[in-house]
Amino acid sequence: MVNYKTTEFIDWCPSCGDFGILSSETMALADLGIDRSKTVVVSGIGCSSKTPHYINVNGVHTLHGRGITYASGIKLANPDLKVIVNSGDGDLLGIGVGHLVSAGRRNLDITIILHNNGVYGLTKGQASPTLHRGLQTKSLPTKNINDSLDPLALALTAGYTFVARAYAYDAMFTKEIIKKAIMHNGTALVDVLQPCPTYNNINTKEWYEKRIYKLEEDYKVGSAEEANEKMTKALIKSFEWGDKIPIGIFYENNLIPSYGERIAEHIPAYFTDPPSKQIIEQNRRSTTDISKLLKNLNV
Ligand code: SF4
Repeated sequence: MVNYKTTEFIDWCPSCGDFGILSSETMALADLGIDRSKTVVVSGIGCSSKTPHYINVNGVHTLHGRGITYASGIKLANPDLKVIVNSGDGDLLGIGVGHLVSAGRRNLDITIILHNNGVYGLTKGQASPTLHRGLQTKSLPTKNINDSLDPLALALTAGYTFVARAYAYDAMFTKEIIKKAIMHNGTALVDVLQPCPTYNNINTKEWYEKRIYKLEEDYKVGSAEEANEKMTKALIKSFEWGDKIPIGIFYENNLIPSYGERIAEHIPAYFTDPPSKQIIEQNRRSTTDISKLLKNLNV
């Protein structure tokens, strides 16, 4: 049996929600029987961005906020790969938010797993973009005066075709959501509520477990006509936060072409002969010939 966990020492704090996400993700890969050599996990910077070191597939630990850009390049160059981004709310919704939004416009077939804990854990607990205004977690000298971003609403309006929320300590439920996200043909966001026991003393395990409930409604778009209705329902549901917090799949639309399919409309050989299969060098000389590509594009 393939072991999807590496033997690296994991230096997250005891009881960190990241452990639950790591287990869910490796179990999801095992359940799907994903080929390790055809899988890449990419991250930015932060506690959760250490994830590529702990999963026994190809991995790239990149720059702050840039996980999605690396993942996009990898997927575009080799569309045969399964590409997963693991990063935190500070990374993806702070410095990297422009890339998070742009990813939705393209519907590139990648999975983004957002480790959402409301703080910048790696740098001692400053308020992140998902910490609600008025909260004062233990590292903050005063209450947070910024409004928070809602990752689900942002993803829905940016064009993501799979939008879900999970909870880090419910590893089996999170595993099932991650499996569906990986198999979805388009950009998928899984916002995982991830308690940070070291710095977020407000959104704790006990706090979440009093509030979380599982969505029962079906948010899958069955026809172009019902896309707006399902989107509106998902948006309304995404704003539910307080005494009750829903988790589950908020929106799934399999009718929008992926970015690869859009490229293949212009370059028919894209999937069979992608950039990763091109010979670009022989005897230390470039063999790159872009004339065919230019001809296809009618430049
Ligand atoms: Fe986890 Fe928080 Fe510790 Fe980072 S600081 S490893 S997010 S518990």
